[in-house]
Amino acid sequence: MQSRVLVVGIDGVRLDVLRRLPTPHLAALAADGFLTPVEVDADTPTMSGPCWATIVTGVTAAKHGVWSNDFTGHRLDVFPDFATRLAEQDGRRTFVAAGWRPLMQVRDGGPLFRAPSRSVFIEPVADTPKSWERCDEQITDAAAAVLAVDEVDASFVYLGAPDETAHFLGCGEAYEAAVRQADRRLGRLLAAIRSRPSYADEHWTVLVVTDHGHVDAGGHGGRTPEERTAWLAAAGPGIGAAPPALRHVDVGAQVFAALGRHPDRHWTLDGRPFAAAPHAVLLDMDGTLVDTESLWLRTVHETVPGADAAHVLGRSVSDTAAHLHALTGDAPQQLAADLEARFLAAVREEATPLPGALELLDLLQELGIPAALVSASSRPVVDAVLGILGPDRFRTTVAEGETPRTKPAADPYLAAARGLGVDPAACLAVEDSPTGVTAAEAAGCRVLAVPSYASVTPAPRRTVLADLKGIGRHELWTAGL
Ligand SMILES: [Zn+2]
Repeated sequence: MQSRVLVVGIDGVRLDVLRRLPTPHLAALAADGFLTPVEVDADTPTMSGPCWATIVTGVTAAKHGVWSNDFTGHRLDVFPDFATRLAEQDGRRTFVAAGWRPLMQVRDGGPLFRAPSRSVFIEPVADTPKSWERCDEQITDAAAAVLAVDEVDASFVYLGAPDETAHFLGCGEAYEAAVRQADRRLGRLLAAIRSRPSYADEHWTVLVVTDHGHVDAGGHGGRTPEERTAWLAAAGPGIGAAPPALRHVDVGAQVFAALGRHPDRHWTLDGRPFAAAPHAVLLDMDGTLVDTESLWLRTVHETVPGADAAHVLGRSVSDTAAHLHALTGDAPQQLAADLEARFLAAVREEATPLPGALELLDLLQELGIPAALVSASSRPVVDAVLGILGPDRFRTTVAEGETPRTKPAADPYLAAARGLGVDPAACLAVEDSPTGVTAAEAAGCRVLAVPSYASVTPAPRRTVLADLKGIGRHELWTAGL
């Protein structure tokens, strides 16, 4: 399946006005995903230049340096728009259609869009609402023609009439008509996408966004709620309910995520995607996929009655033996051998998949996402569990002793990511214990925690669920973002 993304930028549409108008195409999009307020960053002027620059670069004004509608002094060569970055760095095909000069032309310090693969610029014949309506119509015609047939991976289409109308006529009837007209044009762009001969084999993400609002009389640049409240509508693979707080920088970040492109670190994006497919899922075994934790605890208690669970859960046999040695004084090697033999026997006889585990592995297979098993158990125990789960479900497996250090060190997760040839930061680790979570996060992975015996608290890039039951694409795409 080919992933493609369309961003439609509609300039200067007030959220409160939008909400009271019938805009069926936007409403349908929001029903498939969400429509949510976006507050313009406190240090960013509520003006088109800075806001659009933030939206399409994924970095704040402090980095891209566009502070007004004169772009002179910008740093877009370091922090380019997504259409330029994807075309130049990845050889992806990108497309931009717009009628506002600084977006497209070497004037006023522009262009914002520096080097997309394909572009359409149609300037309105005059700076009037009527001319802007005509311009938007022509931009829509041209963009629809491209979107219907071209192999464009990422596109940006700009509609400017609502903003121009508010500036000339205030936020009254003419403005409302312009907003409704923009929705009709959105409908034409979406129809063009659906008409593509290859549409059935494509995953489309559509993002519709405004840059700022307007005061009642028309005009913006201040910090009233009407000016600073922008919005974003989004629909596409993995996109469900709106995340709690979205920023303009997140739009650019989501464009990359929608194409499966994990950002390079030196891009220093300020935005975070709100739905991103993990490039691989790295799964802990004990307590996450199979209930071996109770067997392990029982084994430890049979070996040394009164041992403390917090010191042995998620730990390797040798670490546990060392801990028990400190308690009992028994030889660590003998303790380890006893633990290993008892545990292996118990796993072979009693281990069963935890609720939702097999369904999750099936889902990963169906989505074509590689899975790895990352365990602190020994190879014999891992192999015994693989016999229960099915060895074909994992592209690679890591057992205790196969990396220089085991969990809570990052080594096992780093080894699994290396084995799959993916960036650990683009991987989702599934873990049940604080020790395992520490290891996965030290490796830079996103984490989905399903705590078993010890609790795990939510944190940045860490999602906590009760168990693996009911995990679908949306849960996978949003976990640990
Ligand atoms: Zn604007």
